[in-house]
Amino acid sequence: MGYPGLCPFCGTALRDGGAGFMEHIETADTCRERFEAWLENISGDMEGTWTG
Ligand SMILES: [Zn+2]
Repeated sequence: MGYPGLCPFCGTALRDGGAGFMEHIETADTCRERFEAWLENISGDMEGTWTG
């Protein structure tokens, strides 16, 4: 996964890519909820379109 250095949900500048994002969502409840919803969404897509 590559993050551009900004939270994709609220636009906050992150300390560094993935690790900074994981720290950010520990403290940002809204972003964590949206990130979890996004994860569910992509795993649903993978089940639907990436079978095989
Ligand atoms: Zn955020």
